[in-house]
Amino acid sequence: MRLLLVEDDRLLADGLASQLEKAGFSVDIARTAREARMLGDREDYRVGVLDLGLPDGSGLDVLRRWRANHINFPVLILTARGDWQDKVNGLKAGADDYLAKPFQTEELVARLHAIVRRGEGRVLSSVRAGGFELDENRQTLRVEGGGEYSLTGTEFRLLRCLMSRPGQVFSKEQLMEQLYNLNDNPSDNVIEAYVRRLRKLLGADAIKTRRGQGYLFDDTP
Ligand code: CA
Repeated sequence: MRLLLVEDDRLLADGLASQLEKAGFSVDIARTAREARMLGDREDYRVGVLDLGLPDGSGLDVLRRWRANHINFPVLILTARGDWQDKVNGLKAGADDYLAKPFQTEELVARLHAIVRRGEGRVLSSVRAGGFELDENRQTLRVEGGGEYSLTGTEFRLLRCLMSRPGQVFSKEQLMEQLYNLNDNPSDNVIEAYVRRLRKLLGADAIKTRRGQGYLFDDTP
């Protein structure tokens, strides 16, 4: 799941990015308001973390611009502790949640999962489809009447993407976009390789190939 982290504090941004990657997000960092506007317009993010104090402007203006341009991925804003005005302005500008600095990464991750779930109309912290259950917190796959398996970060991200919209065909390009950030340089056949590995766990029928189009998760019995 692609995540845009807008934060000009280099140390905080880099540390946070690696922890968010571990939690199953593919993270791009924007360090200025200009970069944030550009990436938000161009890339297909599922969620954003937005610092308000940026060197070339306010995060609030970035958020207003995104929303005016119908860029609607859920956004959590980072505010200074105790600044209630920031929180109110952030929510009014179209933020979905906020967190005061300093914060625990675990709380940030839980809140990000929560706003993504709300956006997808889910209540539970798992994705269920076709007799399979994906646990977001533990990155495991449970098979109905079978075992439970830990997934690698990439396996988890790929399966999460497919299982969150059963029946929808995802092209290889769309899957690559959700799996990798702008700095990654994966090879062309990486999706095929991961689909093959996932089919060993899920059985041959759960992930269908549509020739020339892509892949879909089939949740019909
Ligand atoms: Ca800042």
